[in-house]
This record gives sequence, structure tokens and C-alpha cells, in this order.
Amino acid sequence: MRCSIDLDCPGRREGFVQLNHSDNRHAYGVIPIPIGVVAADNDGPTVLLTAGNHGDEYEGIVILQRLFRDLDPSRIRGRIIIMPSLNLPAVRVYQRTSPLDGANMNRSFGAQDISGPTQEIAQFVEEQLIAQSDYAIDLHSGGKMCEFSPCGYIYAGGGRKRLQNKFNAAHQFGAKYTVVVEGSPGSLSAAGERAGVIMLSAELGGGRIRRENIELGYNGTVNALAGWDFLDHAPEETKTIFLRSRSASSSVMSSVGGVFEPLTDVGQQITAGDTVGRIYPLDALDQSVVTVNAQSSGVIIGQRTQACVQRGDFLLHLGESAEESELLHQSD
Ligand SMILES: [Zn+2]
Repeated sequence: MRCSIDLDCPGRREGFVQLNHSDNRHAYGVIPIPIGVVAADNDGPTVLLTAGNHGDEYEGIVILQRLFRDLDPSRIRGRIIIMPSLNLPAVRVYQRTSPLDGANMNRSFGAQDISGPTQEIAQFVEEQLIAQSDYAIDLHSGGKMCEFSPCGYIYAGGGRKRLQNKFNAAHQFGAKYTVVVEGSPGSLSAAGERAGVIMLSAELGGGRIRRENIELGYNGTVNALAGWDFLDHAPEETKTIFLRSRSASSSVMSSVGGVFEPLTDVGQQITAGDTVGRIYPLDALDQSVVTVNAQSSGVIIGQRTQACVQRGDFLLHLGESAEESELLHQSD
């Protein structure tokens, strides 16, 4: 892959990362994935801002398209690299995963043998951009399948000092909640962890694009940039509440197929044993309705938006309350 612009010179430039790909639709061509840089004329840190990692999550694309146009190279410090539509083939067709190879970009980082265009993009981002970065923000949402209570996401690892820096970034991003997870090794956040980058991601709603989530993500990104000293003003004082999410106990899955009727909303606090929904049969009136109860207590961070479910589909994601000091202590 080749980048059409110089990322090192001062100023503002926009261009493309050229993904070579040949199939029925793209016979001999390249897929041009947009990239922009805004750089000051002094040496300073680098931040990478990304969205469109999943192709059906458009909130971050709006935020980074706006931010790229709003940033003034004469009023920043360091270098800000922006890729608003990271998995462009998926973004173009409103799909979470790539139509070219079916791959989920956020499981495609760190691959040993590159086997398709999604891993190629991930490899470029990890080796050419993350490797040069000190900080990174990756903007997500629930896309078509899920609505999130807008929140930050950070990985638990990295040792006390880096975790404290990630906590500070989460406070500056300023979402009501920030979820602390173990994470997946194939994600962009994991690539950030491998490179020692101070990395934050965010889930900005989902289901449909909402103005308040765009504002939260835009203001949060700007405030994090100010906190990292990229901008010519001080950050506002903002705070987040940390929640812990574990892969098994923090999800409520469907035990049967049918139609899911949710009885809760995102952001709601629930207690273990609470009824959170019902599942009705699709094709008969003589079968019983299944009541869904939560197995653990917490805040509903994400909730399914599509009603039709199969056995094993996720219904809810929960965040359990966790003290910042306790999370830091566990990282020692
Ligand atoms: Zn996503």
C-alpha cells in the first residue's frame, strides 16, 4: 500500500492510501482510502484519529470529516493524522465487515500472514501510522445491530503509568461512562497497546445517527487533543465513571430464537435476576414466551437494536462499577 501524501511536512494535506485490489468490481484499480494530516512546523507528538473501522458506524466519520476541516495548522502543536473511513470498502456498502473478504477489520490487526485486503489495511495502519504515533483515538458506535450508551473504551493492560494516562484521556474525552476491557488481540486498540500508544476508543450510540452523540464525540476528541497539548488552549475539566466489562459475565445472550422485546434502555442500572426482555416465537402461538433475566448487575452499556434473534445472539452488554484506584492496583 502506498500513501499519496507526505505525512512529515508542516501544513494540511489530504490524499489517499492506495489499496491494490482486483476483482469483478475493481478490475485493475486501487481502492483509495482517504487520509489527512494537519502538522505544525515544530517537532512534537503524533496522534492518529480513526473511524469507519466497522463500515456501518458513521458517527465517527462525521466527527473526523468535520474536525479535519476545523483544525488550523498554525494553531496546533505536533501532528494530527486522520483516517475517517478506515475500512472504506465496508463503509461504502453500510456493512460491519468488508464485502471484499468478509473480514472484521477490528480482528485483523497483528496477523502473521496477510491473507486479504482488510488485513492489508490493518498492517499499513499498524506498521506505518501506529508505529509513529504517541496517542490514538478510534471512534466506533453500535452500527446497525446495537445501541450504546455513548461511552469511552480503554484496554486494561499496559502497566500502571500507561493505564493512568489512558484514564486521564478517558476523563478528558468526557463521556458519562468509560468501559475498561481486556480486549481482543486483533483490534486496533491492541495494535496501540503493542506500540505503547496512549489509546482510547469510543462507542457513540448506534441504531441511527444522533446529533448529541456527534457533539459528544467531537467535543470529546477536541478535549482529549487539548489534554495531550496538541491545541492552543487548555482542556475543560471533565470526568467519566469507569465500568468494567468481562467477555462472558457482562453479556446477556439469547437462549432461543424468536423476536426480542427489550424491557430496558441503555444507561439503565440493573440488578442480577432482573427481567430485561422477552422472546416470542416467530412461527407459532402454542409455544411459551421466554423471559430473559440478567445474570449479573451493572449499567446497560449496549443493547440489541434488531428484534429478530437466534440462539446465541447478544441482547445486552453490561458494565460493572469499578473504582479507578482498584483498576490501577490490579495492573501492578
Ligand atoms: Zn465498531
